Amino acid sequence: MQIINPRFVVTPHEVLSHTAVAFEEKIVAIDTLANLTKSYPNAKVIEAKEQALLPTFANPHVHLEFSANQATLSYGEFLPWLYSVIEHREELLPRCDKQCLQNAINALITSGTTTIGQISSYGEEMEICAASKLNIYYFNEIIGSNPAAADVMYASFLDRFFQSKKLESESFKAGVAIHSPYSVHYILAKKALEIAKKHESIVSVHYMESKAEREWIDNANGPFKEFFAKLLNQSRPVNESERFLQLFQETKNLFVHMVWANEKEIELLHNSDTTIIHCPISNRLLGNGVLDLEKIKPLPYTLATDGLSSNYSLNMFEEMRAALFVHAHYHAKEFAKELITKATAFSHEVLGFRGGVIAKGAPATMQLVSVPKDLVREDELFLHIILHTQLPQKVYIKGELYGK
Ligand SMILES: [Zn+2]
Repeated sequence: MQIINPRFVVTPHEVLSHTAVAFEEKIVAIDTLANLTKSYPNAKVIEAKEQALLPTFANPHVHLEFSANQATLSYGEFLPWLYSVIEHREELLPRCDKQCLQNAINALITSGTTTIGQISSYGEEMEICAASKLNIYYFNEIIGSNPAAADVMYASFLDRFFQSKKLESESFKAGVAIHSPYSVHYILAKKALEIAKKHESIVSVHYMESKAEREWIDNANGPFKEFFAKLLNQSRPVNESERFLQLFQETKNLFVHMVWANEKEIELLHNSDTTIIHCPISNRLLGNGVLDLEKIKPLPYTLATDGLSSNYSLNMFEEMRAALFVHAHYHAKEFAKELITKATAFSHEVLGFRGGVIAKGAPATMQLVSVPKDLVREDELFLHIILHTQLPQKVYIKGELYGK
């Protein structure tokens, strides 16, 4: 048994002071230090008087396979970025070898993230993911707009899905990712969603990320017109938006980006079990604009970094800082609390893993972050954690100090 005695416990729904936490693999009790030491006289006491104890984060949308990218891909506009992904994919993917993947996983954990939604295009990283200390919802991605290649693409998807299904455990779950409405043929999307339904898997889909996607799906026009003509000899989109969205009525879905979604689409999704995944840094770097959080309000949302193919970091503190500044019309103090609550408790709930809370019986998966010594107002703690934390000082996974 260990007892940690921080300046604050952020549950994250409440901020508790004069409170300590007793834990083994799970959190055993939350009480004053005096009461806990009385109950557990042999416990090791960890003093953390200048720190706050928080649950760890869940980052529901990353692409670990692209972790070798720092400056290979072209940022600024969506289509030039997509062309650069196609141009450099063959060198970027092998550059993310075992060591690169381990480094990315280590960077996630040391920045306070212990649960992720991993979008996997090829499946090469599956075993490393399944053996890691992270909780991983492993989304096997299907892609393919050309009906002639549909069988091959579907077979590859099925193969990867069932391989990941075999590796399922308490901390590793098999899911389905539909790449996007512009890149996945309606029939393929339908078949993959039937698999998700049958196995009760969560579905992830990139939806209306760019203005180019909006123009292509609505009018068969815009920069995608040349892209599809040149690369795939296609002149029409393979999906119509409402018909595509109807496919998602019976699955639990994560709709990623949604920056260019319209009211009708939001209304349609409102009738389904859908959470929006918001990646402000990726949206900014690829020139896609800012998600209007007011417009999507009928739907719940949470925060993710996206992969290193469109971000410089997988650190959720960076993403929360970006969100804080991008959504400048929200009150900083209140919005900071919302962001931390979403990144911890809500994102764990969305992915269906235990954790993200400091509560009796929850896994003792927690992080200690520095509290500025001069903090005066406790109600500004969330804001100052976001502003001042580069990395947590300690991360515990199921009661064990990571890296020690
Ligand atoms: Zn993505």
